[in-house]
Amino acid sequence: MYFSGERLRVARQRRKMTGKQLAKKAKLTPVTVSKAENGHQIQLDTANSLAEALCYPLEFFYMDDPDVISVNTVSFRSLAKMGAADRDASLAAGSLGVALYDWVDERFHLPKPDLIDLSKERERPESAARLLRQHWGLGDRPIGNFLSLLESKGVRVLSLSENTLDVDAYSFWRSDRPYVFLNQQKTPERSIFDCAHELGHLVMHHHAGAKGDRGAEHQADAFASAFLMPEADIKSEARSVESVRQVLRLKKRWRVSAMALVFRLHKLGMITEWTYKSMCIELGQLGYRRGEPNGIDRETSVVWQKVLTALWSKKITKNDIAKELRIPLSELEALIFGLASPRSSSLGDGVGAALRAVQ
Ligand SMILES: [Zn+2]
Repeated sequence: MYFSGERLRVARQRRKMTGKQLAKKAKLTPVTVSKAENGHQIQLDTANSLAEALCYPLEFFYMDDPDVISVNTVSFRSLAKMGAADRDASLAAGSLGVALYDWVDERFHLPKPDLIDLSKERERPESAARLLRQHWGLGDRPIGNFLSLLESKGVRVLSLSENTLDVDAYSFWRSDRPYVFLNQQKTPERSIFDCAHELGHLVMHHHAGAKGDRGAEHQADAFASAFLMPEADIKSEARSVESVRQVLRLKKRWRVSAMALVFRLHKLGMITEWTYKSMCIELGQLGYRRGEPNGIDRETSVVWQKVLTALWSKKITKNDIAKELRIPLSELEALIFGLASPRSSSLGDGVGAALRAVQ
C-alpha cells in the first residue's frame, strides 16, 4: 500500500493546519509529518493518527496521488489580500473538485468544452468578449442564466467553500477542461460577474503566466463587463440615463449589480464623470456597495441538479459519492454548496440535453 504524501498535504490544507499543528493534534513529531508529506512511507498506525487528527477517512491517503492545483496555474483575484491558509485551503478544494468531476465523468456525458483561445486579444478584452459571443452565437442579447450558459459550454462550476469574503472566485484548466470555483457568499449579481471574470481568464490567460498580475485582473473585469453588457444592447436600451432609479430598473435586464451598470455606462461615455460619481455615492448610501437590495435569485447549476437527481433515482446519495471518493461528506457538500436547488429543474434544457448518463 502506497501512502500519498500529496493527499496528506491536501487534507491538511483543507483543515487549515500547519504541519506543526497537525503533528501536535496527531501526537507525532513535526519531522514525521513533514517526511510523510514528502513521500516517505509511514506505518499504518501513524497514518491512522493523521487521518483521525484530520477527520478524513484513512483510505483517502492510500489512493493515487491527487491533481495538485498550484498557485501559478490559477487565477486568483485577491491573491495579495488572502492569507496563505485560506489560499491553500481553496487550492486543495480544487484538487478535490477535480477528483469529484472525474467521478462524475465516468458516469455521465458532460457537455464538451467549447471555449476558444483568445490570448492574442488579452490587450483588447472588449473584442475578446465580442469574439466569444460570436463563437457562441449569442449576438448582443442579455444572458438569461449565466451559470447554465457556462455549463452548456463545458465549464465545470463548483463552490468555493471557504468561509471568507477575500476570495471571489478562481479558475484553472486541467486536462483541457476548464474549472471555475465560486464564492457563494457574494450576491447573485456579483457571482454572475465573478463567473464572467473567470471566463475571461479562461479564454484570455490560458497560456499566459502570472495570472494574478494587475493587468490580467483589469482585462478579466473589462471582459466580464463587455460580455455581460454588450455595447450595442446597452446603447439601445440604456439611452439617456439620468437617475439611480433608472439604473435600478435597467440593471435587471443584464442581471448585473447597479454599480457594475453605472461603471459600464461611464466607460461607454453614456454618463458624465460627474453623474457617475454622484450615482456611486447615492448607490452607496442606498446599500448597493455592500450588497444588492431587492436583487435577483441565485443561479444554480443544471449539471449538479441533473447529476444528483439521476443518481438519486438509482438510490445513490451524496453520502455514497463521498464514500467512493474517500472524502468526508462535509467536503462534498462544500464543493456543491448552493449549486443544486430544486428550483433550477426547469432551467437550462440545453445542458440537460447534452448531459446523459453513460450507458
Ligand atoms: Zn481574476
